[in-house]
This record gives sequence, structure tokens and C-alpha cells, in this order.
Amino acid sequence: MKICFVLGTRPEIIKLFPLIKLCTDEKIQYFIIHTGQHYSYMMDKKFFLDFNIKPKYILNREKSFITSTIDKISPIFLREKPDYIINQGDTNTVLASALACNKLSSNTIDNKKFKLVHVESGLRSHDKSMPEEINRIIADQLSDILLVPTHESQKNLIKENISKKKIYIVGNTISDSIKLNKKKINTKILSSLKLKKKDYYLLTLHRPDMVDSKKNLTSIINFFSKLSIKKEVKIIFPIHPRTQKKIVLFKIKNLHNLKIINPCNYYDFLSLQKNAKIIFTDSGGIQEEACILKTPCITIRKNTERPETLKIKSNLLAGYSLKKINNLLNKMLVSKTKWKNPYGNNVSKKILDILKKNYN
Ligand code: UDP
Repeated sequence: MKICFVLGTRPEIIKLFPLIKLCTDEKIQYFIIHTGQHYSYMMDKKFFLDFNIKPKYILNREKSFITSTIDKISPIFLREKPDYIINQGDTNTVLASALACNKLSSNTIDNKKFKLVHVESGLRSHDKSMPEEINRIIADQLSDILLVPTHESQKNLIKENISKKKIYIVGNTISDSIKLNKKKINTKILSSLKLKKKDYYLLTLHRPDMVDSKKNLTSIINFFSKLSIKKEVKIIFPIHPRTQKKIVLFKIKNLHNLKIINPCNYYDFLSLQKNAKIIFTDSGGIQEEACILKTPCITIRKNTERPETLKIKSNLLAGYSLKKINNLLNKMLVSKTKWKNPYGNNVSKKILDILKKNYN
């Protein structure tokens, strides 16, 4: 059995790392293709180093990312002939990899059927204006093995006429990522930022809908600047490269009340999440991690593909209304954090067992 992992962004590295580690431990033959979708030291290389992951192929990112990635990975698939091609999540990397795999598998001249596996399949925001939603739908339609985190995600796929036989409910590998890294969570980052446990808010923003709009980004930054003064609380804002670029482009100034820091390594970021009083975010993965780490989360988006977090009230959906964010904050500040982790345990082990079973 030979596995190919295709990844390209920070969340894919974080969420595939436990499965890659398990393959190493079990001496399963695999190789990794890094598409170069994320390409700065703190968005990809640092994670490869910390997790001891070595991609065999690192592609140079080009402007027409999806088509150039399809062109570059197709010959690698043909040469390496993996039995499984594994994608995770909803990025352009996933779309390119799924399209390349589908093109080759339907071409009988190449005489090889690659089995396409989608990890974190079945998530839906039901908002087709999000590129991620389109990527998810296409990847799921083209995949042979769909590994979903919850019953809810299984239902989404069945509604799209995907055969139940191809779907496996396994949980989310983020549970394993946190478990494997838990021992390395320490409070060094808190000391260096002069923070006390449960005495600061954590903020992340990077979705195009929010940060590519001068109006949205300016008003949200003004809001958090004022909130920091009103509540006399530090707000830590590890800044995504995309958001950083937009702040410069839009000449947004009102930042001095926020503690802006560079993107963190995984251990520091887990520590910041675990010890925050509240997390405000538009990230998908952070909604899950906040839930597992038992820190209340407020999602600054109009929808979420993580409804399980809303159901157990570890996460509240605020949309872009500043008034609503404020109301939900007051609600969250007095809420109990007694919910159960909906994302399962030993997820990577379950996935590997499924791959072994399906191998023929
Ligand atoms: N993350 C990190 N350092 C940071 C910010 C985030 O390691 O400074 C991690 C975070 O713990 C989560 C992942 O990056 O696992 C989330 O990535 P992102 O928000 O970029 O993507 P999304 O989850 O929205 O696809």
C-alpha cells in the first residue's frame, strides 16, 4: 500500500500530521507533495520542522495556482503510482489534487485507478459564494473514500446523492493533532506577552469576505480597539499574512490598542487558545480547537460549516454585526464550558484501518 499526501496550507499540515506520523510509525510507504499554496516560514516551513515532516515534492507557487498545480502533480501521480491520494479540507490545493486525480483515473491509457480519499469531507456552509464551499463539493463528488467528522456531515453528503457505502464517520483529526501536541503546550508565550491566564481575548481574521473589504476590516478593527479599552482587556491578534497585506493596502491606522503579533507556531497558538478568556475568529479550524480546548468562541461570519459547535454552544455565530458581537460576548463571559468534544478520538488510527481494509 502506497499513500500520497497532497497538502499546501497551514491547516492541512496541522490536520494531516497525525495520520502522516502514524504512517511513519507503522512503516507504511508514503510520500508528500507540498503544493506551495502557503509559502512563508511561519505558515508552512516551521510546521514541517516542528512536526518532523519532509515533503518529497515542493512545488513552486504560480499565479494560475489551480491549473499549474494540476499540470505539476499529474506526472508525479503517474510516476509514483500511489494506491491512495489523500486530501484534507477545502483549499485550492484540494481542488487541484482532486481534479488531477480524476483526470488520470478516467484516462484508461494510463491504466491506473488512484483512489481519492477526502479527510474532513461533508462539511457545508451552504454558502456557494465561498470558494471553499465549491472546493468541498467538487472534492466530495470526485472522492472514492469520504471521511466525515460527524453524522451531520454524513447527512450533507447523502443529500448530494453520494453513496453511503463510500462514507465513513471517523471524527476530525484535529483531536489527534491537539492530543499529540498537548505536552508541548507551555506558558512561555504568555510570559513573553505579559499575559495572565483567562485574562485576555484572542482574535484571528483571514477570510476574504472580511479582510478583502476595506469597510468590513476597518470597522472590525475599530470595534476591537474600542472593546479593549472598554473592557480593560488585552486583545492578542496573531496576524495572517493576507490580513497584514490588506491592513497596509487600506492604510488602516487604529491598531495601537490591539496586540498584533506574527503568526505563531502551533504550540504557542494552542497555548494562546487554551488560556484565552474568549476567542473571536473567522477560521474554521479554530472553531474546532476552541471547542476541544474548552475556550468559548465567537465566530465572526455569517455562517459556519461547523454546526456541531453551535449545537453544544461552545461557539456562537455573530455575523458581522458589531452589536451582535458585543451581545454574544456578554453572554459568553458568563457561560459554562461543560460541553463534550464532538470530534472523536484516535481518528487517524480509524482512518488508517479503513485504508487498509479498502486496499486491494
Ligand atoms: N494557527 C497557528 N498559528 C497562528 C494561527 C493559527 O498555528 O498564529 C493554527 C490554528 O491552531 C489552526 C489553524 O492554524 O489549527 C487554522 O488555520 P487557518 O485559520 O489559517 O485556516 P482555516 O482553519 O480557517 O482553514
